[in-house]
This record gives sequence, structure tokens and C-alpha cells, in this order.
Amino acid sequence: MKLLDDIRASIQHAMNGAFYRKRFAGMEIGDIKTMDDFHKIPYTDKDDLRDAYPMGLLAVPDERIVRIHSSSGTTGTPVIIPYTQKDVGDWAIMFKRCYETAGITSIDRIHITPGYGLWTAGIGFQAGAELLGAMAIPMGPGNTDKQIQMMIDMKSTVLCATSSYALLLAEEIEKRGVRDQIFLKKGVIGSERWGDKMRRRIAGELGVELYDIYGLTEIYGPGIGINCECDSAMHMWTDYFYYEIIDPKTGDLLPEGEMGELVITTLRKEGAPLIRYRTHDLTRSVPGMCACGREYPRIATLIGRSDDMVKVRGAIIYPSRVDELLSAIDGVSSEYQIMIDHLNGRDILTLFFETELQIGAPSASLEKVVENEFRQHIGIASRARAVSMGELPRSEKKSTRVFDNRY
Ligand code: ZN
Repeated sequence: MKLLDDIRASIQHAMNGAFYRKRFAGMEIGDIKTMDDFHKIPYTDKDDLRDAYPMGLLAVPDERIVRIHSSSGTTGTPVIIPYTQKDVGDWAIMFKRCYETAGITSIDRIHITPGYGLWTAGIGFQAGAELLGAMAIPMGPGNTDKQIQMMIDMKSTVLCATSSYALLLAEEIEKRGVRDQIFLKKGVIGSERWGDKMRRRIAGELGVELYDIYGLTEIYGPGIGINCECDSAMHMWTDYFYYEIIDPKTGDLLPEGEMGELVITTLRKEGAPLIRYRTHDLTRSVPGMCACGREYPRIATLIGRSDDMVKVRGAIIYPSRVDELLSAIDGVSSEYQIMIDHLNGRDILTLFFETELQIGAPSASLEKVVENEFRQHIGIASRARAVSMGELPRSEKKSTRVFDNRY
């Protein structure tokens, strides 16, 4: 079986590095005879990679490394991912495939707002654009005035951004009344959980078709999957990696179609191969063939991170469920924040949402509606608080929706 052979070769190669040599000590490649055997191999988690700092993952001689990237942990030691020439090339090939899947061609002008530097975002978007033969406009984040001016002057046709930055730009373009000078046709939005309402707002305000691109620094970077014109599910480039969906609590492999955590094993990575790496992204695999005819398997839009799931008074809350619930209420915008506090022996959940209504009496009745809907759909009481449009922070990176102040 080709997949199993590829997996075994990748494990064997990974054991050239100090980290996996130690982790898999005593294991023989010959012991992995079936996919079931493979599925018994321990997972690799981000915390494990911190132990490998700085170069414990390195599976080739030093001189073959042409670049490093790093993913910042929320706390403590970063993770260093070394890339060979082939890794950098493979990543660009996958990224080019993403652009092509989104119908982007060499005549497009690709406006890149994700950051450049140690993290993988900006440079991945750029390498893919150049390989495609399109024109990259390497803006990086920030300086909204300059972003919009360049977008107008360079006639950018594709915007690459996080969903919250795309929303901010859409709002600024609207505010300045320059929409008729904007040439954007498509938005390639870096994978993060985002609700339908936000998607509709960005698409509507910018007048673009939106594509969801997936990836993470540990596995190349963004560009390892994207949705096509037929559906919101993302095709995954499984000629470069193998993925599984597991129960984040028990670690058990889940049947096709069930929601769980995405786990990835690289098949061709030279510099820093990863075996059964836990992404902490929550999704499900989408069964069946896509109407577009591409045979690459698909995962559904991310519904959040397994570490964002919060439990309040016995109810499990995924940010995506809050997105859904708010998007059904008239007068509530797509921006919200949840604060969880522990006061007088009790967990209190406060939900801040933006509205165009005047704050005071007009917004107070909307707060009641939100509280009722929240109780009905999530199963617990909340305090809803309306704030004016633009009051909640927009972020150039992934936005944080839930602030848990209990611990
Ligand atoms: Zn498709």
C-alpha cells in the first residue's frame, strides 16, 4: 500500500532527528505493518516540540537547511521549523495549487497583508504568487491608509488577509467612499474559524468571492488546503501529508464525518518531518467526491480550536456556535467577545456584541433578545452587553473571542 509505505519512509526519515530518535526509541519500522499499527503511534503535540528547541526536529545535515520559521507559543519557548530547498519548493507548489483552485491566474495582482518574518504567513502567500506568475504586492500588516492607497494605485485583484483584517479593510474602504476605485475580485482568507455573517459582510462590502486557505507553520505554513468554487469545504493536498480526525479528549480516531481535532503526518518533508502532529483545529472530514471533480479529500471550515472550547456551568461552548446564534439576530453585527468571570462562587458569562443601534434604550431590548437566544441555544444564562460598531478590537492576526478570567 503506497500510503503506508510513504508513512513508514517519513517515520524512518524523522528518526534521523534527535527528537523522534528519542521518542520512537525501541520501535522498529518493520513493526508498522498496517494502518492500524500506525494509528497506535503516539501523537506529537506542540509542547513536545518545545522540548526539541532549537533544532531537535532537524532530520537532515545542517548545510541542507535554507530557511527557518518559528511559531510562537502562547507561552514560553517557540518552536523552530527548519526547511530544505525542497521543503520551500514543495510549499510554493502547494500554494500555487491553492491560488489555481481559487481561479487566480498569472494576470492577477495579489495584495498580501499577512506578516513577514519568523512566522510563515506572508512569505508563503508570496512564493505561491510568484510561482504562479502573478504579481505579488508584499504589503505585510498595518498602515491602513497605505494599504488602501496601494490597493487603488496597483489595482490589486486579490486580497490575502485574516478574516478580521479583511473586515477592517472593508469597513475602511466603505468609510472613505473609495469602493469604486477598488479592483478586488477575490479574497484568500487565512484559516481561522469565522462565521457566515462575517463572511457575508466581507464578501458584500468588498464585492469579492472568498476562499478559505488552511495551514499552520509546523506543517509548511498556510497553503496546504483551500476550498474550491463548489463548496466551503477545503480540499487538502494529501500527496504531501496524511491527515486524521481524532477525539481531542480521548485521542481515539473518529469515523468519517465526525467533528474532532485534525492530526497531520507529513509525507515528503525533509527538514522537520512531523508524525501524527496535533493541530488543535476542530473540523470534520467531508465524505464523498466534490462536484468540482478534484479528487483531493476535504475538511469542513474550522469550527474553532480544541483549546478554545470552554465549559461554563456544565455547558460546552464553541465560538462557532455563538457566531451562528448571533448571525440569526437582526441588528447584531458579526463582532463579539465573551468574558467569563468567577464572581461570588459562580461563573458569569458576559457577551459583548456590536450593534448599529444607539446604545441605551434602543440597544437594551436587543440585549434581552440575545440573552434569550443564548439561553435557548447554548443552555445557560448570559449577560449580553451591546457596544457601538468598531468598539471591539480588530486584529491583524487571529482574533480572540473568548477571554476566560476564571483561573
Ligand atoms: Zn471541489
